[in-house]
Amino acid sequence: MSLWKVIQDGSPIHAMTCDVEDYFQVSAFNDHVSRSDWENFDCRIPQNTDLILERFAANDVKATFFTLGWVAKRHPGVVRKIAAAGHEIASHGMQHTRVWQQSAAEFKQDVQDSRRLLEDTAGVPVVGYRAASWSIDERTPWAHDVLSNAGYKYSSSIYPIKHDHFGMPDAPTEPHIAGGGGILEIPASVASILGRNVPAAGGGYFRLYPLQFSLWLIRKFESPAGYPLVFYFHPWEMDPDQPRVSSASFKARFRHYLNLRKFEPRLQVLLEQFKWGRLDEIFLGKDLS
Ligand SMILES: [Zn+2]
Repeated sequence: MSLWKVIQDGSPIHAMTCDVEDYFQVSAFNDHVSRSDWENFDCRIPQNTDLILERFAANDVKATFFTLGWVAKRHPGVVRKIAAAGHEIASHGMQHTRVWQQSAAEFKQDVQDSRRLLEDTAGVPVVGYRAASWSIDERTPWAHDVLSNAGYKYSSSIYPIKHDHFGMPDAPTEPHIAGGGGILEIPASVASILGRNVPAAGGGYFRLYPLQFSLWLIRKFESPAGYPLVFYFHPWEMDPDQPRVSSASFKARFRHYLNLRKFEPRLQVLLEQFKWGRLDEIFLGKDLS
């Protein structure tokens, strides 16, 4: 499908995305950090976002930042800085509540509120949404229609893999129209290897895999039949010295802290070896300038 065949200087452009939430807000730590305590943590989003913006500017990369409403309320200057640098502002919900933990009415309120808040803060239209922890799945058949009714044009909220915390392994792996409202769902990227969907979109897998395997996965998307890859990461992955949440389970801590020191140099390799852009410009057909 030619919809997302964006080529610049002869190379395809992939989608670089960042989910703007802090280390104490990740779903894996939910059982150990209550929302009412969030105010008491040392929020490192401002300095980590500055670092990301600096790296993107140095490598001429534009990206999409799925930002929590919580962040827009506490750190409006961060949201304005991201938008002023030419990146896309999109919604990651108000407080990182998984979609399947909400009723359709609660979800509607959340996506309306976060969109309005981000638009008012950044002064730019917000048309994209990413669910906390890839939480649109079989339990939320109403989600895409709620999003299109709330004015969103795309969602990037499904991970077509099997995982203990998220995933919809039978969902389409390519971008597709979802629900009756015509909204585009752009799933986290997976590569088909020996008949299995292998995560290729970044996140913890990017820190777990050897770098050469990640590069090979991305190159698979550059075949003639390919489509742009969607890569994602978080500001706290740029911050190996972040405060530790020592009460969390061994598995949660292993996944969160694994290879944090390797993340930034690995990201730099990606920024240099591939071309990256904003989700809206790649998938909604806006001109890249
Ligand atoms: Zn998130």
